[in-house]
Amino acid sequence: MTDVNQQTAYDNNNIFAKMLDGDIPYYKVYEDDKTLAFMDIMPQAEGHVLVIPKQKAVDLTDLEPEYAAAVLMTSKKVMQAQRQVFEREGVIQMQLNGSQAGQTVFHYHVHLIPSSIHELGRHAVTQADNNDLADIAQKLAAVIDA
Ligand code: AMP
Repeated sequence: MTDVNQQTAYDNNNIFAKMLDGDIPYYKVYEDDKTLAFMDIMPQAEGHVLVIPKQKAVDLTDLEPEYAAAVLMTSKKVMQAQRQVFEREGVIQMQLNGSQAGQTVFHYHVHLIPSSIHELGRHAVTQADNNDLADIAQKLAAVIDA
């Protein structure tokens, strides 16, 4: 029987931890003292952004209230920017807890995807063009900063 309380331990070398440590590059959309938002490199639709807390949390169960609030506020900023840049109302907010749910990076993150649930691309499969990611990140960041 599956132990429902069994959880992956936080790995300090996970890819998002490395981003927070400045060890690997990413296409930044927004940053504040508690959160970071950047482009998903294998987007499920154009403009797919990830928001992470600057807290070592594997999934929702670990997230401290102040970081939960900060992630939500940053998600609002990003979503408003996506609505403006992509001139669409529909944005999916998605968050996977545990490998059984499909989670592949074990540092808590919210997906914000300008798409419809009926048109969503496959999860973490197709690498986007780097120039396109840089261009979209810059457009979203400009709207948030305005
Ligand atoms: P999840 O499966 O919910 O844990 O989502 C992890 C997400 O991280 C996937 O959508 C991947 O496409 C994305 N991803 C993996 N590596 C990177 C990276 N180096 N930079 C940005 N996004 C990434």
